[in-house]
Amino acid sequence: QEKDYQFMLRTRSPGGMIPAQLYLALDTLSEQYGNHTLRATTRQGFQIHGILKKNLKTVMATIVRNLGSTLGACGDLNRNVMAPPAPFKDRPEYALAWEYANNIADLLTPQTGAYYEIWLDGEKVISAEEHPDVVAARQRNGNRTIFHDHEEPIYGTQYMPRKFKACVTVPGDNSVDLFSQDLGLVVITDDQGNLEGFNIYAGGGLGRTHNKEETFARVADPIGYVDKADIYDAVKAIVATQRDYGDRAERRHARMKYLIHDWGVDKFRSMVESYLGKPLQPLRPLPPFEYKDFLGWHEQGDGKLFLGISVENGRVKDEGAFQLKTALREIEQTFALPMRLTPHQNILLHDIAPGDRPKIQAILTRCGIQAETDIDTLVRYSMACPALPTCGLAIAESERALPTVLERIRALLDRVGLPDEHFVVRMTGCPNGCARPYLAEIGFVGQAPDAYQLWLGADPHQTRLGLVYMDKMPIQDLEKTLEPLFVFFKQKRNANESFGDFAHRVGLEALRQFAATYKPG
Ligand code: SF4
Repeated sequence: QEKDYQFMLRTRSPGGMIPAQLYLALDTLSEQYGNHTLRATTRQGFQIHGILKKNLKTVMATIVRNLGSTLGACGDLNRNVMAPPAPFKDRPEYALAWEYANNIADLLTPQTGAYYEIWLDGEKVISAEEHPDVVAARQRNGNRTIFHDHEEPIYGTQYMPRKFKACVTVPGDNSVDLFSQDLGLVVITDDQGNLEGFNIYAGGGLGRTHNKEETFARVADPIGYVDKADIYDAVKAIVATQRDYGDRAERRHARMKYLIHDWGVDKFRSMVESYLGKPLQPLRPLPPFEYKDFLGWHEQGDGKLFLGISVENGRVKDEGAFQLKTALREIEQTFALPMRLTPHQNILLHDIAPGDRPKIQAILTRCGIQAETDIDTLVRYSMACPALPTCGLAIAESERALPTVLERIRALLDRVGLPDEHFVVRMTGCPNGCARPYLAEIGFVGQAPDAYQLWLGADPHQTRLGLVYMDKMPIQDLEKTLEPLFVFFKQKRNANESFGDFAHRVGLEALRQFAATYKPG
């Protein structure tokens, strides 16, 4: 008799879009076939864990019939395309980022019909070409086709050497962790909000392997600017460059970041230009990027409201007095609100009529959901990957460990006289870095059971990588390790300087020297 194999699936949700109908279907599926929770991912999709093999077909078919898809959410191809989740209707650049995230997702979607044949028994309920996301994208494009005529025109027979991650954002908004992506596009508009083109960044990627120096986390480089008319050809040129020159022999060296590292940006840009058939233009100037989480109640610019709900580590569940799953079900059954998942694993509900706000707030309060202002800021700006028990690659705990770690850090900050301090903390159970710990001011990367590599010195807006401060910190040494660093920070910080910026400015060696001579008070 065959074993009861369990599976995880994740949705393809460009820009984190989850229609109310799909949310309710996922909620039901997680109860009937999953582990009774949903998990918002760091790439703006939902994961359902614990699906038995015999139920996979039912679950997949239900998702597709309810306006969802899982096509291309895993594998060696373009993954879920990210975009800032904020639904600002009076800031056209945000709508453009959503539109182009959808269009890039469609452009790089596998064209095979096998997905529907396998999961829907060849029953042509819906095809990739008929999927509502694709149809909507076509309509937005004036029905101009963005596909070629034959099967897999971009991926060919072998797809990509490795996964490929892309995002579209707006100037100044780094909610998408732009610098962690293989490909990042920034919408450039004129003063009236009309689209002119895109700044292009490429070569970011965080996955690495412990004790293998040839693998490393890398931030994306600026590559150039293209006019809007050339954007799809430019994206295809970049994907084709990686497809044709990315390393297919060594998987650990296969991401596009290694190609750009090995070649240098100039050679990479020249190759892209040769596929594109024209030069890229110089980057347009941009304001500094900031991390934004959009939590709480906001005007969305058209008389309606949006609400950002903090979801600790993305886990939508009911547990004791905390009834987030019940609250979201009731809200969606009553108000059918469009939902956006954020790159920080939170949930935004939008298009809310102002008159419905008290009723929605009453549901959240009754279900024990805290307002963002009541959440500890360490928790608010933290992320953890699932790790144990659901991820087979996990070396150490992450999602289950981070809440306690944050409580211990908060207690330590109180003790050293920094009670109001907060910074970005991220934890992963292995060096793959799914929760992007190398861009956190304090990053914990699973190194052994109950021991973590400690990364310090990234900036609070995720534009600079941290560095390894300690290779293997037993978690019981958390206070012993961090206390001298916090004391040094308190003594020597500049006005309003964040912990990550401080660690970067003084350097890890100075931190180590201070820690070596530190005597607890
Ligand atoms: Fe699994 Fe590692 Fe990703 Fe965490 S970072 S989810 S442990 S692969």
